[in-house]
Amino acid sequence: MARYADLTTAELEEELAQVRERYSEMQARGLALNMARGKPSAAQLELSLPMLDVLDSSANLSAEDGTDCRNYGVLDGIPEAKRLMATLLDDAPDNVIVLGNASLTAMYDAMARYMMFGALGSEPWGKLDAVKWLCPVPGYDRHFTICEALGIQMIPVPMDENGPVMDEVERLAAEDAAIKGIWCVPKYSNPSGVTYSDETVHRLAAMDCAAPDFRIFWDNAYAAHHFSDDPAEQDTVLDIAAACAEAGNPDRYLKFGSTSKITFPGAGVAAVAASPANVAEVKRHMNAQAIGHDKLNQLRHARFLKEGAGLAEHMAAHGALMKPKFDLVVEKLESELGEAAIATWTSPRGGYFVSFEGPEGTASRIVGLAREAGVTMTGAGATWPYGDDPADSNIRIAPSLPPLDELDAAMDVFCCCVKLAALEKLLED
Ligand code: PMP
Repeated sequence: MARYADLTTAELEEELAQVRERYSEMQARGLALNMARGKPSAAQLELSLPMLDVLDSSANLSAEDGTDCRNYGVLDGIPEAKRLMATLLDDAPDNVIVLGNASLTAMYDAMARYMMFGALGSEPWGKLDAVKWLCPVPGYDRHFTICEALGIQMIPVPMDENGPVMDEVERLAAEDAAIKGIWCVPKYSNPSGVTYSDETVHRLAAMDCAAPDFRIFWDNAYAAHHFSDDPAEQDTVLDIAAACAEAGNPDRYLKFGSTSKITFPGAGVAAVAASPANVAEVKRHMNAQAIGHDKLNQLRHARFLKEGAGLAEHMAAHGALMKPKFDLVVEKLESELGEAAIATWTSPRGGYFVSFEGPEGTASRIVGLAREAGVTMTGAGATWPYGDDPADSNIRIAPSLPPLDELDAAMDVFCCCVKLAALEKLLED
């Protein structure tokens, strides 16, 4: 096989006939495989089962400060859980508020509070004519859903290997006071796997913003999610808090994180970390919303993960399950699509996703073909605000959930669909 771009029409037609035949065979297998969402596999979930034994009815259910975790109280989290989440969020325990199970809820609440009450004394954003938000693309669909739900206008900004393209971010933030912030997944981004460079972090912290209450929503969802336990094989990211303080913008960021993909999604612990002024503001509003969160779960997590000291070992076990899956995805893409030179993809060192760029105008077709052959992918367009990928080329691959043999079969189908869509497109152009 050669580069598709170098083939004659007759050769393309011949290749298409072969690929169509292969596709029909695959369809006939009646597969039901899923690479749609970044869910941990059953084997990963098993790693945290011992956590359920940490608190039985004979366990000491008091936090270290004597708080009875069975009862009401403690809005911002028990001390040992603050230390755990401070390790995860690379911050000091005093700057951390431990919440319920989902960082997504924390992000929605933070955005909703700014809409209702403003930020540190500014006009409530909901009273303004327009509120706009910078959305690095490809990005996380649920971030975009939060903006859409609250009527915040999304502005896509391209990503490169260093994070959001900062010339573009700086230009937009400086010129339009309606732009109130930016989504950032700074490490092993969803879906590109990119980790922000030091320069990107410094520029985000220091840039001139037309909106004085500009906020960086720093969603460090994959802070500890490396595939290798060798530090030389792990990405690191600068601390946005230190960078913002250094640049004289100490209140510009809110950090979010959770143990969703460390222990149990939906039954983990989430937290926000911020400057003292922002922490005080969040607590003041939260005081009307809750008496306290699930302290038994906080205690269970703090003990199981040794207040953060056990994180590296626990995540190494996750990494050992994830690495062969990502290796398989990248190897399959290379062996099936490399020579045809019709697509590009990322090869991250951690996180949950591979970002795939097919030929322009083919992503929806590829996802549709895969679905008809029994393989569910994340919907085309999901990685763009409003579900609208103008080039119709990006697809998020989520390899974590299926066991290796299923992933292997699913990737065969996916690669076949890519070829089919690419050939159709070339012959139509
Ligand atoms: N942020 C990002 C970037 C994610 O990829 C995910 C999960 N897919 C979340 C947040 C959701 O986290 P949580 O379970 O804490 O709400």
